[in-house]
Amino acid sequence: MSESSSSSVLIIGGGLTGLSTAFYIRKFYREKGLRPQITVLEKSRVLGGKIESLHRDGFVIEKGPDSFLARKTAMIDLAKELELDHELVQQNPQSKKTYIVSRDRLHPMPGGLVLGIPTELKPFLKTGLISGRAKLRALMDFMIPARKTAGDESLGHFIERRLGSEVLENVTEPLLAGIYAGDTRHLSLQATFPQFGEVEKTYGSLIRGMMTGRKPVETHTGTKRSAFLTFRQGLQSLIHGLIHDLNDVELRTEAEAVSFAKTAGGGYEVTLADGEKLHASDLVITSPAYAAADFLRGHVDTSALEAINYVSVANVVLAFDKQEFGETFDGSGFLVPRKEKRNITACTWTSTKWLHTSPDDKVLLRCYVGRSGEEENVFLPDEDLTGLVLKDLKELMGLKAKPQFVEITRLPKSMPQYPVGHLEHLSHFEQELRGKLPGVYATGAAFRGVGLPDCIKQAKELAEAMASGRSI
Ligand SMILES: Cc1cc2nc3c(=O)[nH]c(=O)nc-3n(C[C@H](O)[C@H](O)[C@H](O)COP(=O)(O)OP(=O)(O)OC[C@H]3O[C@@H](n4cnc5c(N)ncnc54)[C@H](O)[C@@H]3O)c2cc1C
Repeated sequence: MSESSSSSVLIIGGGLTGLSTAFYIRKFYREKGLRPQITVLEKSRVLGGKIESLHRDGFVIEKGPDSFLARKTAMIDLAKELELDHELVQQNPQSKKTYIVSRDRLHPMPGGLVLGIPTELKPFLKTGLISGRAKLRALMDFMIPARKTAGDESLGHFIERRLGSEVLENVTEPLLAGIYAGDTRHLSLQATFPQFGEVEKTYGSLIRGMMTGRKPVETHTGTKRSAFLTFRQGLQSLIHGLIHDLNDVELRTEAEAVSFAKTAGGGYEVTLADGEKLHASDLVITSPAYAAADFLRGHVDTSALEAINYVSVANVVLAFDKQEFGETFDGSGFLVPRKEKRNITACTWTSTKWLHTSPDDKVLLRCYVGRSGEEENVFLPDEDLTGLVLKDLKELMGLKAKPQFVEITRLPKSMPQYPVGHLEHLSHFEQELRGKLPGVYATGAAFRGVGLPDCIKQAKELAEAMASGRSI
């Protein structure tokens, strides 16, 4: 809470972060006996940001994210608070296998990989994904001393330093970079996988440390739990649940915040694109970093936000008749390393991985296009983009069937790339906010985690800190 007043909070951005911020501000303020007026401003026509689920011909199609990591519990906790946890579904247990493309063929990922790091030596030594030389190089991880210098480095350089470039390029990068559509050699280790740096420090070896820390994912009943979850009717269920619950919060769409000024009373006056002016004691900015920088420029140093590059991607979802398709899958899909020079970066065998998404006699595939440095294809006309995707599927999977329909979603500038030094830049930025603009906060996917549970966790932590008057 800013000191001026606790009466009104304006949240800019109606994606998952913005809506969960509204949810938790209301909850934590109420616990303190406060009932602030909360308004969410969303520039586009719909709420939900990147999350959008489509129901078509009996399919549940995700146009943005499609699932979330179960071990990061913020999403499950929120689903419980909204009484939506009965809608959660697990990944088909028969679809645990993932393939990686190597020299135009699909290879099963070796068993025992944890976040792309080998934790079982036998399958790693047997895999055809990397050369014998690369395997020996990776085993040098047991001997190479830990880095002495503190400070951030890139995720790619870290993996290369510990395990060698072939393991990085053929195994680890396709697995880890997919989350960011990124180039691991430009992504911050500390902001993406800080646990790797900790493991190196503690165990002196990444493989040894990951082996020691490896735990089976178990539920309280002792059964193995799925690593990923989603909602039976699509991830948008969560957005609908939030909208329904936030009935005393003003949720405004087609309301773009363009600038703001401090008011004499200590609060802020926000100007919308149509000239309307709104007043609030506190502002929470949850828009992407480039939009947040436009909004804040001139008030504070926005270089931390400007340093976050955004990558454009597209999802190409293809539906087939099962009989015509022919093939049955024994896994969840495949990843395509950058050096394979394909049009697609990955393909999820959605109807096998998520049984609820498709009628029994149909097959649903989801292909990803675009990653850091390779974004041109994202903006091709639909027909050309579909042609490139089908060409890859034919060459890699022997696909012959014609799709019954294709659903393309382009997500321009949608994947934030945390640069090396990101967390340090953020601390400087947040210190400036606290000093120069008390009561103005910024959070979301551009900050400390891009995953859906990370967005909710950040929203919750911010709301809790605001309600208790702590600085964050
Ligand atoms: C293709 C794709 C696949 C993904 N897959 C997964 C996945 O499977 N699992 C997972 O956990 N994560 C996934 N992610 C990441 C996850 O979807 C995002 O990090 C998360 O949805 C971001 O939520 P957010 O609310 O922070 O931002 P957004 O969803 O971007 O919301 C920000 C909102 O701010 C609005 N806005 C911008 N400027 C203004 C303004 N001036 N005034 C008012 N409103 C404004 C925007 O219109 C937008 O609605 C994926 C992301 C993409 C792009």
